[in-house]
Amino acid sequence: MLIKNGIIVTEDGRFEGGLRIRDGKITAVGTELEPEGEEEVLDAEGAYILPGGVDVHTHIDMPAGECMTSDDYLTGTRAAVMGGTTTVMDFPEYDEGETLMDGLNCWRKKSEGRAYCDYGFHMTVSGWDEGMKEQLVRMKEQGITSFKAYTAYQDGIGVYDEQLFGILQEMKELDTLLCVHCENGDVLRRLQRQLREENASDIRNHPKSRPNLTEKEAVSRVIDFAAMADVPVYIVHVSTKEAAEVIRQAKQRGQRVYAETCPQYLLLDESLYDLPGFESAKYVLSPPLRTKADQEALWKALADGTIDAVSTDHCSFRFHGQKDLGKEDFTRIPNGTPGIETRMELMLEYGSRRGIPLEKLVSLLCTEPARLFGLHPVKGTIRAGGDADLVIVRGDAPHRISAGTLCQDVDYTPFEGFEVTYQIQDVFVKGIQAKRKGEWVMEKPEGRFLFCR
Ligand SMILES: [Zn+2]
Repeated sequence: MLIKNGIIVTEDGRFEGGLRIRDGKITAVGTELEPEGEEEVLDAEGAYILPGGVDVHTHIDMPAGECMTSDDYLTGTRAAVMGGTTTVMDFPEYDEGETLMDGLNCWRKKSEGRAYCDYGFHMTVSGWDEGMKEQLVRMKEQGITSFKAYTAYQDGIGVYDEQLFGILQEMKELDTLLCVHCENGDVLRRLQRQLREENASDIRNHPKSRPNLTEKEAVSRVIDFAAMADVPVYIVHVSTKEAAEVIRQAKQRGQRVYAETCPQYLLLDESLYDLPGFESAKYVLSPPLRTKADQEALWKALADGTIDAVSTDHCSFRFHGQKDLGKEDFTRIPNGTPGIETRMELMLEYGSRRGIPLEKLVSLLCTEPARLFGLHPVKGTIRAGGDADLVIVRGDAPHRISAGTLCQDVDYTPFEGFEVTYQIQDVFVKGIQAKRKGEWVMEKPEGRFLFCR
């Protein structure tokens, strides 16, 4: 197939032209490609042709306390593809008493034959038991080259400092990358307890129990730990101006620190915790939404290279039937919000409005995340030889984001009513057309597990 007359955008620049797809790969990219024989031609008519999005932070089919995320692999990856994302990286977990391999097997089973796009895993490491070293080695043999640790939730999935430092030391041995969720677990647990006693049903206690400095302190500590262990580190979902500044300084010192933020921290703010009734529960996620000043700082951090990637932390819980578990107690509201389907359109729109060039947005949404986790240049860019994961997007199609028109399996979107002019029209996943003129056309889930090296 030949796609022609588009504006091809990569992190290096843009040009009018087209590309050829054969056997799932891009085989040619150029300005003067002509159809060969009976070759099918798609006229992109001045639309942008971008690499498929790479979302390196999702939680699909994940248990969380009393419930499961509403999206499983079928619905979650379909939503991703509808929104222009063609690669996701998810976080397998394991239960107490299980091994990392048990967790990986569990996620392989959830996803096998049920994903509409390729997917990789960052394996969560939630403790440091005897034999962990060997377990990490086995993970690498299974194609896992990135891991995740939490500096909060030590009563469940989180790790203490000694464990965290041990994991970082192992990353050095194995030449693998640790992603870290940074909040000070001890402080926020104590604040949560105190605030719950004062008024358990007040949702404003959610952000109050997780002040900016709980993030900044943990980011700062993790960066220092990484320096002592002499390893790179990836900070997930940066939400505060203070944390962004700490990361900026570390980068200026030459330390290998990488960071992501998410659309919710760039586009939504803490005023959403003052909504009437239980409405604010839609925005209960961790870290919580912050102030307008934090938003400004994060946009600046995107533009100046302090933050390398924009992912979603997609973690969908229904407003009716799941979020309401916490009606009487804010600490029981499942933490998370959906975003896998809206990331690309929102970032193209609001990034452009902020004056960030499309090339830079492609870097943040596609290329850099692929590069950080070893998927580039097969994923995350447009080049001959790469996977034909492609998005055709118009920049002149005004519409509103609305839960009613999204296909992610959850009854709300935190971005309800957001106006965008960028619209994902066509999506190709490894050369197979998944979306055509806005409609879903992919027959069966053909996404594969990505064995990372
Ligand atoms: Zn997450």
